[in-house]
Amino acid sequence: IKLVETLVFLRVHWHYQTITVPPQYFFCKCCFHICVFQDVLRNILDLNESVIQNEEFVLCVSGGKLFPGSIPLAHRYGGHQFGYWAGQLGDGRAHFLGEYTNRKGERWELQLKGSGKTPYSRSGDGRAVIRSSVREFLCSEAMHFLGVPTSRALSLVVSEEPVWRDLFYNGNVIKERGAVVLRLARSWFRIGSLEILTRTGELDVLRTLLDFIIEEYFKSIAMNDPDKYVVFFSRVVNETAHLIAHWMSVGFAHGVCNTDNFSLLSITIDYGPFGFMESYDPNFVPNTSDDEGRYSIGAQANVGLFNLQKLLELMEDTGADFTMTFRQLSEVTMSQLQTGSIPPSMWALSDLLSHEYFRDWVQLYLKRLMESDSDAARQHRMQGVNPRYVLRNWMAESAIRKAEKNDFSEVALLQKTLTEPFVEQEEAERAGYSSKPPSWAQQLRVSCSS
Ligand code: AMP
Ligand code: MG
Ligand code: MG
Repeated sequence: IKLVETLVFLRVHWHYQTITVPPQYFFCKCCFHICVFQDVLRNILDLNESVIQNEEFVLCVSGGKLFPGSIPLAHRYGGHQFGYWAGQLGDGRAHFLGEYTNRKGERWELQLKGSGKTPYSRSGDGRAVIRSSVREFLCSEAMHFLGVPTSRALSLVVSEEPVWRDLFYNGNVIKERGAVVLRLARSWFRIGSLEILTRTGELDVLRTLLDFIIEEYFKSIAMNDPDKYVVFFSRVVNETAHLIAHWMSVGFAHGVCNTDNFSLLSITIDYGPFGFMESYDPNFVPNTSDDEGRYSIGAQANVGLFNLQKLLELMEDTGADFTMTFRQLSEVTMSQLQTGSIPPSMWALSDLLSHEYFRDWVQLYLKRLMESDSDAARQHRMQGVNPRYVLRNWMAESAIRKAEKNDFSEVALLQKTLTEPFVEQEEAERAGYSSKPPSWAQQLRVSCSS
């Protein structure tokens, strides 16, 4: 098979991330069924239809045989599932087979799904049933032809082999037929691929992986750009937003928008209990086990954002002040962070101290700071972009109340203060503009008419 001869296998980068593991073969040679998508066969893998008559090909796409030279790998990743850090996950029923560079020069990564246990299967059986496999096989191609960025599907092999499943988690186990899908993507890296390394503090591996991803898939970012990680991240944010907008435009609800199912290349991956909305309903939930409707179709944009801003999560949990958290991070010294002696005047940072993950986060932050230049230079840079003063409602209200009595002094003070929002100013400090907002501020309501 031509495909076999031209498969190019992985580089050393992957070994940090993966465990070599063979797929398992479940199929009886005389009772299976294979479906293929011609477009993938021809236009991605440079093969023609006759190949499905080839027994070796069928074996290769169903886990019975390895493409010569293939080193099957299972990828380690973590994820936030339904809002909570779920720890290490990983390819529990998928085997990465290798990559193929086609005639057009495009590089595609091949994966089997449902091909048996891996070191990341936990208590799962590593199998996939006909139900989920047909859905993924059909939907990934359907999405491609709707013009939505997505993984692709080459083949579906269904056997008579029984797989046992608890259908709706009610304890009634039913027998279903097992199946294997061969799916393709430019890359299978997920947000969770990075999260696991951040969580475990494997920062060298994280950097190696990020550099690999940027070099391979974000070619317009220069490797010597000092801001390459920030540029990369903003690219991912932007592309994810586009992807979700695309989903919404066709009424697609992914169903399991966990960070382990969100691609770093912003393509649709891991088709599970997705659904296309029929009767219009922003609360449409395709996944019957998503009781709270967390991933309803209308919630997807916010969920995508959630997946991209776990840092910010500490701030949300503690209700930390947005402006002053970043400002005080610009003012705190490394030694204050190291010793945990954050002065009480840094009230926004002090609010964060109570969070169970704050110490962990500080450790990561310090490692990052150690790579940068001196404390003073960093503080100077950060203070130039993180304002100390913004026009909070209470400040405006206070000035307005005085102005109503013809005292415009505070309006004038705000005029002055807000023209130099990055510079600490004595009068503004005296007025409490960088202090914790007064309690009466919480009662303030502003509407269109105010
Ligand atoms: P998913 O909800 O399909 O994205 O899967 C979440 C995690 O569970 C991933 O790490 C999967 O690889 C793993 N997983 C799902 N189903 C199975 C299974 N049948 N056997 C082993 N692992 C599984
Ligand atoms: Mg998944
Ligand atoms: Mg899934």
